[in-house]
Amino acid sequence: MSASGENFDLHCHSSASDGVLTPAELVRRAADRGVPMLALTDHDELGALAEARGRAAALGVRLVDGVEISVTWRTTTVHVVGLGIDPANGTLRRGLEKVRGSRAARAARIAEGLAAAGIPDSLAGAYAQARNPRLIGRTHFARFLVERGHARDVKSVFDRYLVAGRPGHVPHRWAELADAVGWIRAAGGRAVVAHPGRYKIHRGAMRELLAEFRAAGGEGIEVVTGSHRRDQYGEFAALARELDLLASRGSDFHAPGEGADLGALPPLPGGLRPVWHDW
Ligand code: AMP
Ligand code: MN
Ligand code: MN
Ligand code: MN
Repeated sequence: MSASGENFDLHCHSSASDGVLTPAELVRRAADRGVPMLALTDHDELGALAEARGRAAALGVRLVDGVEISVTWRTTTVHVVGLGIDPANGTLRRGLEKVRGSRAARAARIAEGLAAAGIPDSLAGAYAQARNPRLIGRTHFARFLVERGHARDVKSVFDRYLVAGRPGHVPHRWAELADAVGWIRAAGGRAVVAHPGRYKIHRGAMRELLAEFRAAGGEGIEVVTGSHRRDQYGEFAALARELDLLASRGSDFHAPGEGADLGALPPLPGGLRPVWHDW
């Protein structure tokens, strides 16, 4: 690893959202893979943090309490990671409860779209994949469709069925950007824009998003993430330097064999202030 840090992994998911490993299994895997500091960042959910904390203490992994909040900015879904949050904070807990509350109705509509495209029973199928039913989401549909042979992997299911213009896509409004950042700050955490390279917005809009994010109290962006292509590391490193944003690094690990593994990414490029600089 470079001078900018050890093999820290500040973004991953457990079975409390759309990951497949339990919190204890996830922390064990991080320890086995040489990750000394891990942030567990389940989507809109804090329920796995207590179990992860107990396991991390036993294995000598530094656990950072985290969350990944679903946001709608203009018409684009944007994810905001909160790091070092207090999971007992009422403002954050109430905000997340509201975000989660809309998932069940959305899932029913996804299933209707898929049924109309000739795929029956996907609602029950998706719930069977979800260990935490209140976090039902597209990944659970995707794993069900793979199991049924409709596509060869989760990524292909998204491309064919779940993104805009496809039968299982439903428009949805998540939290407001300023609200999500506010909840994270109320809980004592640091807000980071997750995988900025994934959003289908132009350069100018990206700057407007980051300006609004900062005005709301946001501090960082992910530069090295399993959701970026390698050529995007340099692009977002340059943006972080230019806009004086803290830089984060995380695999966005969900499941063995699905995307990047824990601690498997290159270090942050030089000349950046890591989000963990004062931890
Ligand atoms: P949801 O919050 O239900 O909309 O689900 C979002 C999750 O779906 C993300 O966190 C990823 O885990 C997964 N996802 C989104 N887009 C893709 C994609 N193109 N390929 C694979 N997984 C994806
Ligand atoms: Mn996910
Ligand atoms: Mn995300
Ligand atoms: Mn994620």
